[in-house]
Amino acid sequence: MSEHFRYPKESFEWQSFARQPWRLRWRLRSIPNHFGPEFQEFYALLGKSLYWNAEEIANYQWRKIAALIAHAAKTVPFYQRWFAEQKISAGDIRNWVDFQKLPVIYRSDIDQNLADFTSSEFKLHRGSPASTSGSSGRVLKFYRSWNTESFRRAVLWRHFNQIGYRFKEPRVSLNVAFVDAEADLLYKYDPIDNLVMINGRFLHASTAKAIHDLIKRFKPVMFYAHPVALATLGKAMEEVNLPPLNLPVIYVYSEVLNQATLKIIRRQIGVNIFDHFGNRENTISASQLHCGNYHINSEFVYMELTPSPNQFEGQPLHRVLGTNLINYAMPTIRYDCGDLASEISQCSKCKIAHPTIRFIGGRDKNFLVSKHGLLHCQFDDFLHKHGIEMPDDIQIEQVDIETLILRMVAGHDYVLERDEPILLGHLRDATKGWFNIRVEYVDAIQQTPGFKKSKVVSRLGAENLESTKE
Ligand SMILES: [Zn+2]
Repeated sequence: MSEHFRYPKESFEWQSFARQPWRLRWRLRSIPNHFGPEFQEFYALLGKSLYWNAEEIANYQWRKIAALIAHAAKTVPFYQRWFAEQKISAGDIRNWVDFQKLPVIYRSDIDQNLADFTSSEFKLHRGSPASTSGSSGRVLKFYRSWNTESFRRAVLWRHFNQIGYRFKEPRVSLNVAFVDAEADLLYKYDPIDNLVMINGRFLHASTAKAIHDLIKRFKPVMFYAHPVALATLGKAMEEVNLPPLNLPVIYVYSEVLNQATLKIIRRQIGVNIFDHFGNRENTISASQLHCGNYHINSEFVYMELTPSPNQFEGQPLHRVLGTNLINYAMPTIRYDCGDLASEISQCSKCKIAHPTIRFIGGRDKNFLVSKHGLLHCQFDDFLHKHGIEMPDDIQIEQVDIETLILRMVAGHDYVLERDEPILLGHLRDATKGWFNIRVEYVDAIQQTPGFKKSKVVSRLGAENLESTKE
């Protein structure tokens, strides 16, 4: 891609503000004021509720669930019909055992009938669309209320504060490639958040120095990015021998953190890495705190596990059901978000009473289906253990129940006779010898939106995980 970039006129430097003094208003404006009274209210609540005990959390959650069910039964066609069919009313759902009688909702249910899940009080709750794409590539339309968005922001900012980043401190993010008139901008600057957003188009060795200089000048407290993008930047920096950035806080989201990716981020960007696990529907939300565990944001969502028919390496594999407690525009109760977890439990390492969740396989959905059952393909980690780091250039595709394609970009130092048998051998070991493997060489691995280059593509695996609807 192009190495030619330009700097924005509206920058973080004071000279830039001197030229456009009206922008100072935004630079000095307080973030809670900017986000509005709902945000301020939720943020104040979350400051206290983090330290609630288990009973206080349970009381709060039941109060919110009961109100949400009553609202859904009154204003949402799907639930109006369900309660009529069952010949019960919302008031008959009296405890968590009753709650489990409510039907599990799947992405496909909403996909097929958006209106059926939309509240008749949609306007009152200021619903706005949030689209989300599945691993099958289909885009799901979803509505979130104004309060949901304010609450989501408050949850995010509580997490930021917990890990050592405060309002108005400089923050940098890596964004997906800018388009149109902005395509050649190296970065954009948002004076309200005091945020530098770097153009994902320029994560190469040839532009790494410009990004490195920019970050050194801006001195961010926190780097907020997709882990694959961060690792790409880290590798580009290494290629041209740039020193590590050592930023105080690294915030990543929505992807499995494999050891190879983590190692590059630690080495080149910073060692204090925190992760957030959520979805666009806002039915699941868990934040990694200093203890290293993912604590559920139980003021925002109620999460439960339901047994799946599958086992995974001798462990029970549960599907995660989530209910957003705030979204009155489109209530979806017990929503199957397609994620898998082994358990929800109390934290063994810190005193915070909000339960922790242990996800399996993260977001990558690196699952293969074999005749012997599901297999989580951690080829990346496997290679890493053997000292091989080439996470971007390899993809595994499952063709059928017994065939895999090992797809590779052969780099300039790749020696076919030497390297192919080694990689094949490692993939055989990583997949327990359960598959026939074919090797295919390509010019580039296709990239999907949001920096993702799927390491493992398995229609069978995705179907198995997404369609366990009985
Ligand atoms: Zn903890």
